[in-house]
Amino acid sequence: MPDHRYQVQGTVYLVGAGPGDPDLITVRGLRLLRQADVILYDRLAARELLREAKPGARLIDVGKRAGRPSTPQEEIHRLLVLHARRGRTVVRLKGGDPFVFGRGGEEREACKRAAIACEVVPGVSSAVAAPGAAGIPVTHRQVSRHFAVITARSNGKGASLDYRALAAIDTLVFLMGRGRLKQICRGLIEAGRPPDTPAAIVERATTPDQRSLVATLSDLPLQADDNAISTPAVIVVGEVAAMAPQRALRQALQATA
Ligand code: SAH
Repeated sequence: MPDHRYQVQGTVYLVGAGPGDPDLITVRGLRLLRQADVILYDRLAARELLREAKPGARLIDVGKRAGRPSTPQEEIHRLLVLHARRGRTVVRLKGGDPFVFGRGGEEREACKRAAIACEVVPGVSSAVAAPGAAGIPVTHRQVSRHFAVITARSNGKGASLDYRALAAIDTLVFLMGRGRLKQICRGLIEAGRPPDTPAAIVERATTPDQRSLVATLSDLPLQADDNAISTPAVIVVGEVAAMAPQRALRQALQATA
């Protein structure tokens, strides 16, 4: 066993890359990206940001690539620790905010277990930025006093969402929900949310390919299919969804029709 006690260890920075537009990384995130010796990035982090890496920096893709599965989480932990132990400045670049459904908590734990210094650099989360970029405020005086951010993915134990509890929240923002859009809308209607509740979906928010669609709980699934809305996408349910500028949305959809 090499004795690491007297070696200078590197730090791992869990950096939020923002929702898509490379300009939406934080100033601190960008500074660290430019200093990094090693950058581990995944699918949702804007590719343009990698051009900010210094010459000779090592870029490691740990995301899903054409048909290949993403790097297992354990392997990502191993790489973070390995490079930091070699004294490198390691940036783990993650889409949106590292602690919003990004498994950033697990990565920080892995650093802690290995006694590696780890700093979290928050990012602009798609949970708020995707609605915002489509003109939908997640809160609005008199209209929405609370919002919840929900993963549509199952917890692996087969438990479904508690739609009754969710139906009581003014604004609901679902991440990873495109594949379950139909179930989500049906579940909320069955739990008492009126079928004509405004509901929107925002695809590839803050990128040049952003598209969004505003409909109601009852017809959003069909409209999303008709318009071939794909991923990544955020679903917004609640009165605030109707505040999106409709004309702009229609134009965006016509442009891609
Ligand atoms: N940590 C990320 C979320 C990771 S989970 C964050 O804070 O944004 C991945 C989900 O985020 C996607 O399934 C999608 O629901 C959402 N998402 C990420 N980027 C998006 C974008 N540019 N437009 C719409 N949704 C996005």
